[in-house]
Amino acid sequence: MDDVLIIGAGPAGMAAAIQLKRYGLIPRLFEKSQPGGLLWNANWIENYPGFPKGISGTELAGIFIEQIKPIMVTHEQVVELSWKKGLFNAITPNSHYQAKLVVIASGTKPKILTGFSINNEMAKNIVYDLRLIKEQSRKKIIIVGSGDIAFDYALNLAKENSVIILNHSDQTKCLKRLQDQAEDHQNIEYCPQTRIEKVEKSLEGEMIVECSSPFGLKIFRSDYIVGAIGRDPQIDFISSSVKKCAAEYEKKGILHFVGDVKNGLFRQAAIAVGDGIRAGMLIHQKVEENEHESNCIHR
Ligand SMILES: Cc1cc2nc3c(=O)[nH]c(=O)nc-3n(C[C@H](O)[C@H](O)[C@H](O)COP(=O)(O)OP(=O)(O)OC[C@H]3O[C@@H](n4cnc5c(N)ncnc54)[C@H](O)[C@@H]3O)c2cc1C
Repeated sequence: MDDVLIIGAGPAGMAAAIQLKRYGLIPRLFEKSQPGGLLWNANWIENYPGFPKGISGTELAGIFIEQIKPIMVTHEQVVELSWKKGLFNAITPNSHYQAKLVVIASGTKPKILTGFSINNEMAKNIVYDLRLIKEQSRKKIIIVGSGDIAFDYALNLAKENSVIILNHSDQTKCLKRLQDQAEDHQNIEYCPQTRIEKVEKSLEGEMIVECSSPFGLKIFRSDYIVGAIGRDPQIDFISSSVKKCAAEYEKKGILHFVGDVKNGLFRQAAIAVGDGIRAGMLIHQKVEENEHESNCIHR
């Protein structure tokens, strides 16, 4: 049995692991992909204290990974988290782990683009994780969205590609600074009030993207479409009985949600890290309490 299970090694989960290690507790830190979480997708982070000039998401992820080196990462996806007889059970495709305490740091999943027809062969060219296409160059890429993530993706990809941002609305939801940078960028075209209606395949294998707009039908050619229309908490793996009793478990201090998975609009790396550190401290308190109680019983 493990002391603590942490599900997700993004900033929140890694911070919880670092804090627990300070107390001599060895958490089992699960990661289904690559430690660092969404930081790998972030172009430039300006609001993480300690880096006055800002830092790229990739570099910050690398620094976090360096700091968790002494903590072993279990590179498995937790496909189910359930509760039985006083223990949490984390099931992965290969194994089964148990602990009395769990930290859920699983972040968010992207909202999927819908509302248009698409040639089946082209569906694989719609992506939601920038890591899949970050190394591409000289491609034509359409980004759908109007928030910080859409504009940050555009600035990132426009270093080596030409980018079109499609926004259904005439309003953006992103930092003005990001929008200004994107609008000034020679490789970025911004199209408000533009909605994808149909994606076909050209003879050359490119996507032909038909869009409606106030100026009539617009047709773009593209290699990829990137969805950036929002994110939802990543909680599919939590069993319905754990979901039902989550508030009670949280009150007891045996279950902790940290970072983007619970932060709604306040999805920021520094907040996620603070959440993780706090959970680590609360878990330490809980472990001490439990030890004290069991010492009293055995005296
Ligand atoms: C384009 C972009 C730009 C950004 N810019 C900034 C910025 O400038 N400033 C800022 O503060 N923040 C920024 N952010 C947000 C920041 O990256 C997040 O707030 C932060 O990464 C959240 O950390 P987290 O640990 O809560 O979640 P995540 O980073 O999402 O990490 C969750 C981790 O859990 C893993 N996981 C999920 N489910 C399971 C499972 N069942 N089993 C095992 N592993 C699992 C995932 O693979 C992932 O690695 C940006 C994000 C994006 C996408």
